[in-house]
Amino acid sequence: MSAVHSEAISVPTAVVISIGEELLEGRIADTNAGTFARELLLKGLHVSKMYTIGDGVGELQTLLTELADHVDVILTTGGLGPTADDRTRDDVAASLGVPVIPVPVEGAIEHLVEVYSKYHDHPATEAFLAQASMPAGAEPLRNFVGSAWGFMVNLGTRTRLYCLPGPPVECLSSYRDGGASADLEERFGMASSLAHGVLHTAGAPESVVEEHLRELIVDGGNPRLGITANADKVSISVLARSEEPARPAEHLLETTLQDLQQRLGSLWWGRDAQTMAGIAVESLQEAGQTVAVAESCTGGRLAAAITGVAGASKVFSHGWVTYSDQAKQQQLGVPEVLFEQHGAVSVEVAAAMAQGARRVSGCDWALAITGIAGPGGGTEEKPVGTVCLAICGPHTDYSICRHQFARAGRDAIQRQSVRDALDMLRRGMNGLAPLA
Ligand code: ATP
Repeated sequence: MSAVHSEAISVPTAVVISIGEELLEGRIADTNAGTFARELLLKGLHVSKMYTIGDGVGELQTLLTELADHVDVILTTGGLGPTADDRTRDDVAASLGVPVIPVPVEGAIEHLVEVYSKYHDHPATEAFLAQASMPAGAEPLRNFVGSAWGFMVNLGTRTRLYCLPGPPVECLSSYRDGGASADLEERFGMASSLAHGVLHTAGAPESVVEEHLRELIVDGGNPRLGITANADKVSISVLARSEEPARPAEHLLETTLQDLQQRLGSLWWGRDAQTMAGIAVESLQEAGQTVAVAESCTGGRLAAAITGVAGASKVFSHGWVTYSDQAKQQQLGVPEVLFEQHGAVSVEVAAAMAQGARRVSGCDWALAITGIAGPGGGTEEKPVGTVCLAICGPHTDYSICRHQFARAGRDAIQRQSVRDALDMLRRGMNGLAPLA
């Protein structure tokens, strides 16, 4: 079945503007733009452009003049703090031709005075108190985790402008809890015209995943598919647009995801915000089973991934970081002869680690990892990125040797190995083909 349709309907458009000289100088990575690209997409808006601009006088005003009435939504972050280079309020007020006034919320100024007095022995400065001000005619957006208020206002006849503080937790607070999200929902609430979902896979590289889907990836198609890969997973994102009321985007999204799941078979493991560790903990909980881990080159990252999931205590009891041969022998009972015959990075040692971890812990499942994370320590026979993994469980007991993508570095090799170990557990628990 093909879920590809070429006709696309028009959806509200949005622009995200990140403000700050520190962004342009590369001192801070612009995470706000990504955050709000996702948030706006979830509201059914199409982000058509992102801008990063400095703090210079009138820079924002110039851009707003250019964009006003050409897009439905403009969302800015930054430039609302107490320093001289925080000019968002003034630039927006100048664009609107209105003065800047105190936010008309009882106690707003008093709260800032109180905050200021905790750290200073003189009265609050005008610049500090300006954080509770906004262009006349705007609506305030409360910031529950910082001092600077955000605001929202109409720009021209078409554009709704949302101005949020710069620090990531503060802009999210003003957006989600302060009122911007609800305002967007109210104005552009026909979010069903766009629906977005992501399917996650493991066990095969990006090129193999792409082969399964090639005919669905069409330029300008509806739905629009995209593949992203990192050390943890290969993901396929699906952006669906409704073309008529009888065919909502959600429906197209779900049909497409089902189609993808069928095509990908045992490669896919989860959706959207799900993680492999989260799925492992959930599956173990459902099955009433437990897992132990024995790690060498990942140094505890597998245990950290599992225990990073709330509820892990019900399913996880033991984790060993057996970095030396001696530790593997003492803690897990790996026979010395295996090191002599095969070396510490071998499927034999990995298998013995998993078997030992299962035996000592009494868990239903045990996973083991031993490998060469680099950058040194590789040989011709076992180059950097050689990682042996093992699983031992109720009906499964096998070990494999993987050649991780080594050029990505030590961190990526460790992450790929954690991913593979969790994938072995997923496959083992679901009776799927072993990871090769
Ligand atoms: P304040 O000055 O009160 O902290 P503000 O609204 O003036 O808030 P900025 O001064 O522009 O915000 O930024 C404050 C800090 O927030 C930056 O130093 C940076 O750490 C973080 N920040 C700002 N913009 C971004 C962004 N786009 N992505 C990630 N972090 C950001």
